[in-house]
Amino acid sequence: EAVVHWYKRDLRLHDNRALSLASAKAKEKGVPLICMFIVSPQDYQAHYTSPARVDFELRTLAIIKEDLAKLDIPLYVETREERKTIPDHIVGLCQKWGAKHLYCNIEYEVDELRREASMTRKCLDAGINFTAVHDDVVVAPGKLRTGTGNQYAVYSPWFRSWIAHIHSNPGLLDPFDPPGQNPSSARQRFNDIFQMPIPAAPENKKLTDEERKRFEHLWPAGEHEASQRLEKFLGQKVAKYKDARNLPAANSTACISVHHSAGTLAARTSVRRARDLNGTKKLDAGNEGVKTWISEVAWRDFYKHVLAHWPYVCMHKPFKYEYANIEWEYNDEHFERWCKGQTGYPIVDAGMRQLLHSGWMHNRLRMITASFLAKDLLLDWRLGEAHFMTHLIDGDFASNNGGWGFSASTGVDRSRTSAFDPAGDYIRKWVPELRAVAGKAVHDPYGRGAAKEAEKKGYPRVVVEHKGARERALARYKEGIGRE
Ligand code: FAD
Repeated sequence: EAVVHWYKRDLRLHDNRALSLASAKAKEKGVPLICMFIVSPQDYQAHYTSPARVDFELRTLAIIKEDLAKLDIPLYVETREERKTIPDHIVGLCQKWGAKHLYCNIEYEVDELRREASMTRKCLDAGINFTAVHDDVVVAPGKLRTGTGNQYAVYSPWFRSWIAHIHSNPGLLDPFDPPGQNPSSARQRFNDIFQMPIPAAPENKKLTDEERKRFEHLWPAGEHEASQRLEKFLGQKVAKYKDARNLPAANSTACISVHHSAGTLAARTSVRRARDLNGTKKLDAGNEGVKTWISEVAWRDFYKHVLAHWPYVCMHKPFKYEYANIEWEYNDEHFERWCKGQTGYPIVDAGMRQLLHSGWMHNRLRMITASFLAKDLLLDWRLGEAHFMTHLIDGDFASNNGGWGFSASTGVDRSRTSAFDPAGDYIRKWVPELRAVAGKAVHDPYGRGAAKEAEKKGYPRVVVEHKGARERALARYKEGIGRE
């Protein structure tokens, strides 16, 4: 006999609910625990997962394998080319290992929920106890209701309800125990699994050598790194987070989203650690920076709740249904210039180049660049959403989709963009053509007297004029929303 934990986007040993339950069950039964992860190239393809993210997951799996081996727990990692065969294959593996119990944490996207439904059925037929639990979010979807019993569609009242729910259920933030030691006989019994290497990335998701080195350096993998990053941020930066978080040049955020999204760090752990630092049990009291940071981590829960309640957002539909009829432009040249950071709007270009280089972009820049695509270029926001996913190391369907919905219906203008990079340092860092441009001209080189320098360095002129574009967008949005 054995108990199996099926790893997905919960790539850690600590504070992992399903893993903890699986380990407790194995102990209760006196049988070994086996962990498993299935690499699914078709899922990566369907979800636009970036090569950097795939690499991050594989690097993390190597660390987990080592950590588990110290507990005599084997980690089985296999690539399955055809994703529709995965549920049967997992059931087959459980049968081969004599496992009567299979555990995993729930993922809320439609494809994943369908897979879990199919697993439930197949496990039932095979006489395997299948347990899928809430872990990815601090508060499970469906728990928070408006006065009339509906799902909140607006963040602020939802957030008040989220806080109140945690205050009345403080156990939600308690950590789950890491897995215990396997019986030593597991070593011999599953020797072949212990010997199995972590597979290479699928062909269509391979990084070049240069990229692998770059991403390894920028984003070291695994839960030990995640926890160090968290403690460093809480120790050094969180107190100033409220004021500094909107200034991309200040490097003042936690840079921890890849860990939340791959599950090398639980959102629950982050909120608990921030709360403990605050010296109060209340999440909405104490230091302003800590409070604000907790409210940002809560956005992640919010978008998962939205996704779980309105699954059509997974089907390329806008959250606000009335936006489905807007007539978008499909201008390849404009899209390419946006992707490459060649729009002629320095703040937009800086953000897009940061994404290409590092697989990450500051939140404010994600809003500015997304809004620019939808409002200034009037390009279909779904193109931008997919481009983000194919490059972000922290790509997460709910947060990305939610962020795009939010940004595509909020405007951006030049005065606002300069407010977030007042000295222009962020632009100079990411747009080397403008490095020598002093003062405010860096925000608008051709309009503010730096045309010669910009031209000499090959920095492009604006792809569209902001003013005309804005009027066009307003008219097109109005027309689309009015259409039945
Ligand atoms: P911090 O400011 O330190 O925040 C801490 C944590 O809170 C983050 O790690 C993240 O897990 C969560 N968080 C913060 N802001 C948000 C938010 N607005 N929405 C959801 N969660 C949030 N985040 C992703 O993790 N994956 C994505 O694919 C993603 N796509 C986005 C697309 C757009 C268009 C926009 C506007 C935002 C997107 N975000 C996404 C949210 C946000 O930009 C990132 O989570 C944040 O920039 C990560 O940096 P950090 O870890 O330093 O965040």
